Amino acid sequence: KSRRRWWNVVRALDEFEEAASTPVGRLRQVVDAMAVEMHAGLASEGGSKLKMLLTYVDNLPDGSENGTYYALHIGGTNFRLLRIQLGGQRSILGHDVERKPIPQHLMTSTSEELFDFITVSLKEFIETTNGANQIRGKDLGFTFSFPVKQTSLSSGTLIKWTKGFSIDDMVEKDVVECLQKALCRTGLDMNVAALVNDSVGTLALGHFYDKDTVAAVVIGTGTNACYLERADAVIKCQGLLTSSGGMVINMEWGNFWSSHLPRTSYDIDLDAESQNPNDQGFEKMISGMYLGDIVRRVIHKMSLESDVFGPVSSNLSARFVLSTPLMAAMHEDHTPNLTEVAKILEETLNIKDVPLKVRKLVVKICDVVTRRAARLAAAGIVGILKKIGRDGTAGITSGRVKSGKSGKMRRTVVAIEGGLYLSYTIFQEYLNEAVSEILGEEIAPFVTLKIMEDGSGIGSAMLAASNSNQN
Ligand code: ADP
Repeated sequence: KSRRRWWNVVRALDEFEEAASTPVGRLRQVVDAMAVEMHAGLASEGGSKLKMLLTYVDNLPDGSENGTYYALHIGGTNFRLLRIQLGGQRSILGHDVERKPIPQHLMTSTSEELFDFITVSLKEFIETTNGANQIRGKDLGFTFSFPVKQTSLSSGTLIKWTKGFSIDDMVEKDVVECLQKALCRTGLDMNVAALVNDSVGTLALGHFYDKDTVAAVVIGTGTNACYLERADAVIKCQGLLTSSGGMVINMEWGNFWSSHLPRTSYDIDLDAESQNPNDQGFEKMISGMYLGDIVRRVIHKMSLESDVFGPVSSNLSARFVLSTPLMAAMHEDHTPNLTEVAKILEETLNIKDVPLKVRKLVVKICDVVTRRAARLAAAGIVGILKKIGRDGTAGITSGRVKSGKSGKMRRTVVAIEGGLYLSYTIFQEYLNEAVSEILGEEIAPFVTLKIMEDGSGIGSAMLAASNSNQN
């Protein structure tokens, strides 16, 4: 009987693997769907689940920036404070960062409480990095990693919360005004010079180092991307004039959806039980907030259907008990007996003494979930390249590859940041590999993915520098 139960579990795994599979043909459909949705989102307001938001960033840093600037970054899990000293000629003379987790209760409290926590932390940070000296650098970049409808580079209203945040009094409010008021309450005389999405900050830092950087992706607690678009392609904003003729578009790609995405019953349940059902569908398959929870759901179902995990642990019904870093630790357990897997199963899920073959099964579940996530993110990236004619398909004539006016494929850099991509090695490898696989061996060498650690904050300080009214 127990043998039959084992085979039930093996079958359940096979079914899951099949439903979550991402052969390159399917990824190419996702690439096409992404490019189509990008067009639709640029054509009209509400034309797509992709909001394709204007950022009012038309000039990216070029390395000539000078002076001391601060940045604040509210991500999904973490909060960061940064100070950078720029010396012109593409040089960063000094750079301090402090990271703090955002206290859970502040994610659902009031905007005043959240912003007071932030500005008080900033005050302490300035005092420690600056000593007793007078504050140098009064311009602040504000990286806010949630969908914002910007009205200028330094103003914008919150469209909605994502990633488990829910502070009702802030929705549709100007986030810079909230911050500026809190700065006043805390007695900090500073100017919020740029309001920046985290992906836009990452693009700014990427461009600071390498002018071929045309897009940026963040994969941390949530996921998002932005890229440099031609102003005249933003059809929903007729007559959009920018000094460079371009504009960075914040895609808010976490909300992308396509029928080609390999959705499973676990994704449907996760979405239905989330704080934002029917929203952020792409993000829920890809980002750090959710991957561990998908794994937990698969183990839970298997545990209900068989006894291979022993008696059904009540921990298995608790949402988010299995975090993505713990899932990654199981996936990357290189001990011969998978002792790390055993330890996490016991300590986190209260599942004890499972045989090695069951521990291997758990590693396999982690692999299926991460592989799908990484490959879908890769398809999203190639979708952006396709939209801007940098995937090598624009000019294929009779099998010969060309792109761009010159008829040659141009070197293209995509900046990447976010805790999931940076710290989860297997995820990173799967993503890089899938980008090459989708592009094919002829085009892949032209496209480079470059890690921009802390880019979301540093880039934001750089945008504050270029928008500073002190210069
Ligand atoms: P945020 O997205 O909150 O701004 P990060 O970009 O640092 O911050 O991403 C943090 C997220 O990255 C975590 O919530 C977690 O999901 C994921 N993460 C961090 N470290 C790891 C790790 N070692 N393995 C897997 N995922 C990780």
